[in-house]
Amino acid sequence: MYTCANCTVQACGQQTPEKLPQNCPMRNQPLMKEALETYALPENHDFYITASELEALGYCQWPRIKETIQLCLRMGYTKVGLAFCRGLRKEAKIVDQLLRRAGLEVVSVICKTGGIDKEVCGIPAEHKVHPGQFEPMCNPIAQARLLNEQHTQFNIALGLCVGHDSMFYKYSEALVTTLIAKDRVTGHNPAAALYCAEGYFKNRI
Ligand code: SF4
Repeated sequence: MYTCANCTVQACGQQTPEKLPQNCPMRNQPLMKEALETYALPENHDFYITASELEALGYCQWPRIKETIQLCLRMGYTKVGLAFCRGLRKEAKIVDQLLRRAGLEVVSVICKTGGIDKEVCGIPAEHKVHPGQFEPMCNPIAQARLLNEQHTQFNIALGLCVGHDSMFYKYSEALVTTLIAKDRVTGHNPAAALYCAEGYFKNRI
């Protein structure tokens, strides 16, 4: 079992292979070799190199939205998908405008597309946010399928719920990046709860 999160050596970042912990994943050289070869596949090579170059180009200067736009432009994409949460529809409109201003065609699909009540897909009535009322289900599979149907070359996830985002990633044919990770409590900054995990959020996690 690998436990990099608890490693005190971090030999991987220092070119000191003699210091590898016993359970270091780098001891699995066949897997490491196979992973490296996978970056060389035509479907991965340019994307990986371009994404990696972005890190240096905008290091500590470009916000994530600019990195996202630059990735699209440098990859030569012309048509991108935007799968967004209704709760962030204002932000989705801003993202749409910024992408269009950069010359990209944008296909956007809201999470509630379909307008299907949660109970139809088996969510118990008592587990609705407001039991007894019409409450549309989030529909990440439809979001992905609609963007697939539109042949978007790259998709952006904006504020999809935990788990619904997973399903969107699963069914999207195009690669996906997440622009906003939803966190209703921290203004969509999940790291805030981690920074305060031993303090103000201690009893909320
Ligand atoms: S890859 Fe190896 S050296 Fe690097 S953090 Fe994981 S266990 Fe530590």
